[in-house]
Amino acid sequence: MGVRTWIEGWPVYRQLTGDDPLGRGAAAESQRSRALTARTSTADSVARSVCPYCAVGCGQRVYVKDRQVVQIEGDPDSPISRGRLCPKGSASKSLVTSDRRQQRVLHRRPYATDWEELDLETAMDMIADRMVAAREATWEDADDDGNPLNRTLGFASLGGATLDNEENYLIKKLFTAMGALQIENQARI
Ligand code: SF4
Repeated sequence: MGVRTWIEGWPVYRQLTGDDPLGRGAAAESQRSRALTARTSTADSVARSVCPYCAVGCGQRVYVKDRQVVQIEGDPDSPISRGRLCPKGSASKSLVTSDRRQQRVLHRRPYATDWEELDLETAMDMIADRMVAAREATWEDADDDGNPLNRTLGFASLGGATLDNEENYLIKKLFTAMGALQIENQARI
């Protein structure tokens, strides 16, 4: 490669002499970056979603190729976030695709030092049994003056940001029907 060709290939030279004075496009490209294709442009489909991490509820576009999530970006059409995501939301693809994601139920019995793997049905039965037992053991029909209470303080519900509106609606109905008073959640849109 001659010196002239080398200088002409230099990004600063291209920036100063070409039609990309701010160095945001062609002037900054290398042979390799010119050959790269954005995963967003090769996706098979795009689904609209909401970031599950916090109560802001930023809009997301989830890009899918061959039935796999390949990229998650901010949704410019969202009135909440107008295309922006914070670093946590920008990294939410890992929430779906990371091989470190926990996908099995783990239970540590009282006084045990190790986690035990459970199938989902067993875990759900254990939770239901404990709720029924706690309700029976702590149910209050009335206070000392005979005023009706019909409640239990034996369990509570504390939801997280990944619960959506519909799930919260059902949780509220379920726990209220069972007589719980403490039902809280990190609010979502
Ligand atoms: S992108 Fe950040 S601010 Fe927006 S909902 Fe997700 S965690 Fe919250």
